[in-house]
Amino acid sequence: MKKILFKIAFILLGVLFFSVLNVKDANSWGFWAHKRINRLAVFTLPPEMIGFYKQHIEHITDHAVDPDKRRYALEGEDKRHYIDVDHYGEYPFKEMPHIWEDAVAKYSEDTLQEYGILPWNLENQLKKLTYAFEQQDVRKILKYSSDIGHYIGDGHVPLHTTLNYNGQLTGQKGIHGFWESRCPELFAEDYDFFVGKAEYIKNPNKKIWKFVLESASHVKRVFALETELTERFPEDKKYTFDERGQSTMRTYSVEFSRAFEQELDGMIESRMRTAILNIGSFWMTAWVNAGQPNLKSLGEFELTEEQQQKQKELEKQFEEGKIKGRNHSN
Ligand SMILES: [Zn+2]
Repeated sequence: MKKILFKIAFILLGVLFFSVLNVKDANSWGFWAHKRINRLAVFTLPPEMIGFYKQHIEHITDHAVDPDKRRYALEGEDKRHYIDVDHYGEYPFKEMPHIWEDAVAKYSEDTLQEYGILPWNLENQLKKLTYAFEQQDVRKILKYSSDIGHYIGDGHVPLHTTLNYNGQLTGQKGIHGFWESRCPELFAEDYDFFVGKAEYIKNPNKKIWKFVLESASHVKRVFALETELTERFPEDKKYTFDERGQSTMRTYSVEFSRAFEQELDGMIESRMRTAILNIGSFWMTAWVNAGQPNLKSLGEFELTEEQQQKQKELEKQFEEGKIKGRNHSN
């Protein structure tokens, strides 16, 4: 009887979890990981750049998650964060043209938009950052540096490259936040984040597709391991309940998370490390392509009233809002 009651309570709590789950806790890389990745990328930069970025490190850290907030305010924003590349075929997706114009010619722009445009969005972001360096516009340099860090981070997450982005097609709902939020938050303190120095990227398109396809190559393993562990862990060992403010949330237990993280054999750590290095390298590439402007002469900046208003509006829509488009977590 006790056992049955426990089971019922567990199911009820589970239902409660899915109805009260605060989606803001389950965003791409989790807010914690995005901030961490952007922050650490600063330390990969060459001497001519690092002073400026250190001066603004809090800004780059705090705004690492603005693109996710924009998904609440801006129609079409969500498509910039992923590409469901398995819609087009099987790994290694030889049929998918990497150049935007070729991909549009083959699949149509509507289709590309429908299944996500992360790789090409990144090329666009790089152009914007390069232009900001050319203009020596401090506010825009910081904005596009923070943004590009976010999108590069997303591109290193296997679940940002698949139609089954939250396990919703295979009864594994929640796996998105599990891989990119829960596990890093539990274990990333012990990761080795000494990743070396940023490098100039000669062919950004090639580099972007390299890390996006690496992410895609991990998708199968991520789902298979979750299935395997679910068979080994009874439900009451797989999940635990967390008190968060007023609500109780169901989340993956520490034991289940640890088994997953360990048996992925360094995958999460390695993806975070590569993301950090690539972010630094993209920042550096934009700066070099802009003619290596002297960043020491750039001063502080203040947001105009209109810009402050815009940021406030973004925060407000995020607090109150509903994602326009795909939500990873439900
Ligand atoms: Zn994102």
